[in-house]
Amino acid sequence: MEDITTEGNRDLGKALCIITGASRGFGRTLALQVACLVKPQSVLLLVARSVEQLKELREDIVTLDAGQKRLVVHCVQADLEKKEGVEKTVRAAQQIDSSVIDHLLIINNAGSLGDVSRFTLSFTDPVEVNHYLSLNVSSTLSLTAGVLQAFPRRMGLQRTVVNISSLCALKAFPSWVLYCTGKAARDMIFRVLAAEEPDIRVLNYAPGPLDTDMQAEARYRSGNMKLRCSFSSMFFKGQLVSCQESGAKLMRLLLDNDYPSGAHVDFFEL
Ligand code: NDP
Repeated sequence: MEDITTEGNRDLGKALCIITGASRGFGRTLALQVACLVKPQSVLLLVARSVEQLKELREDIVTLDAGQKRLVVHCVQADLEKKEGVEKTVRAAQQIDSSVIDHLLIINNAGSLGDVSRFTLSFTDPVEVNHYLSLNVSSTLSLTAGVLQAFPRRMGLQRTVVNISSLCALKAFPSWVLYCTGKAARDMIFRVLAAEEPDIRVLNYAPGPLDTDMQAEARYRSGNMKLRCSFSSMFFKGQLVSCQESGAKLMRLLLDNDYPSGAHVDFFEL
């Protein structure tokens, strides 16, 4: 289990934590870190398409916990680009008895880079664009809404929603039109949610340039040569951020719980 020793005795409560894109990369690390910080008998719902990788992660969590907390870990194999995948995930959450938890934590982490080898003028096919938005924007909204409906406001239940964001939500990167659009839209979804539901804690967290599969794709496939060189240089100079370090900062934000709801917080600001 990730060692977040500096957190002392603080915890995330007896939680139901839903993490999308938990099969690898940042989501996998977040699942291990959350498992360290929740109270006994908390429930983790790990969501992705690659069920074997989810099962391996479940084994790792159960082994490292060594029966101390008796965490309940469910793997949900779901393609979040599709309506059925979103519905399946919401149904899995609905199976959990709301009265036994005091914290609902949704971490919207799943995402894709889209085709970064091409420039804006090449995206003439709305079907292609819609496919991208379906996973990266629509499913995030629908999944969050479905789960929040299943766990309505009640005394003693804290509800927290995290959007794994990016600098791309704020800044235009040439040849990254899909990714930048998706991240900007996602941030706005959660800003609106924060404005509408003051009792829900909402955070857009930009994790920094992480050493993951997605980062490798950015390094090798970006159509914009300046970007491609800058990602390669970060990689070769060892300047990428580890998932553990970034995840630990997110965990600290969640434990401190004093960010303004709906805020966009960047790894480098912390
Ligand atoms: P990875 O590509 O390494 O992992 C993506 C995760 O999303 C995988 O677990 C994958 O699981 C899941 N996923 C992808 N498509 C689907 C789908 N259709 N249905 C369900 N799950 C899916 O990405 P990272 O770990 O790097 O990124 C995680 C988050 O962090 C993303 O939102 C990304 O935009 C953001 N981010 C990443 C940065 C970076 O430098 N890497 C920088 C800033 C933000 P599976 O394939 O099994 O379905």
